[in-house]
Amino acid sequence: MRAQIGLLTYLNKSPYNGFMKILGIMASVFFSISAHSKVTYQWLGTSGFALSDDRTTLIFDPAITRIPLYDFLPFRTVKSDTTEVDFWMNKCGVKSIQGTFVNHAHTDHVIDAPYVVKKFGGKLYGSSSVVNVGLGQGLIQSQVQKIKHGESWKIGNFTITPYNTPHAPHFLDIMLMDGHIEKPLPTPTSAWNYHVGETHSFLITHPSGTILFQAIGRVNDNDVLKNTKVDVLLLTIANRVSSEQLIQKRLLPSKAKMVIPLHYDNFFFTMRRDQIIDEVWGVKVDEFKEKLNLQAKHVKAQWPKYCEQVSVL
Ligand SMILES: [Zn+2]
Repeated sequence: MRAQIGLLTYLNKSPYNGFMKILGIMASVFFSISAHSKVTYQWLGTSGFALSDDRTTLIFDPAITRIPLYDFLPFRTVKSDTTEVDFWMNKCGVKSIQGTFVNHAHTDHVIDAPYVVKKFGGKLYGSSSVVNVGLGQGLIQSQVQKIKHGESWKIGNFTITPYNTPHAPHFLDIMLMDGHIEKPLPTPTSAWNYHVGETHSFLITHPSGTILFQAIGRVNDNDVLKNTKVDVLLLTIANRVSSEQLIQKRLLPSKAKMVIPLHYDNFFFTMRRDQIIDEVWGVKVDEFKEKLNLQAKHVKAQWPKYCEQVSVL
């Protein structure tokens, strides 16, 4: 017994004990880093994507259902194509969702959000217009959350903060489907009833790093995000003023080490299942790639296929 106590006292004071303590600290630091170390991104088409760590999956702008141009004709109506949504969610391996965020209430951002929330769980976060899309399709108050500029929501290890980044006109000074959705919007309904509402970009922080989802392909003069530094930039390139503007006013000041362009595939056609991405008319992806190469060569640009996993943090 005395020998055992003597041995314990020796181990406690010995260099061996100090070494073990250091090893223990190193192990706990390693495990706490590795517990948060992996955030993956998967593109869901247009500006839709999933972000996941080992606990949580968040979805942004689920619009897997594509609205062909003829569905914008008078008397045509639209609704979520749940077979198509199920196919892609299954392909991406999405089993449950803890939060769905929508940047504005046009069909190419919001159309599948109510279905995704009903099927995979979590809440729908967005403007009052986005909330009215959810309520119109049977979500109840506890499944929707109206968001405000600068207010944060913590879901698992993610913290999501929306910032107002106003939608740009579609051509000249004309903004299609302008205004707000003032009351619950049941479907099927005309695509023209999806009024834009407020538009938000999202700053997403995680113990492993920071991501900015720039939801609009333009940077305004009173840019609320001009001093925001991030690790990864998810960058809408549709309807941009110029590639230079996005690179010089958003990408380079953000100090991002990785950029993933969004909203350049043709959202008037069904998502192709053969891994080919059809570009939307006039988006000029090659020109954007060329400018990235000239002005931001040090930033890693990723162009994943639908559902392809990209390790972002
Ligand atoms: Zn829009």
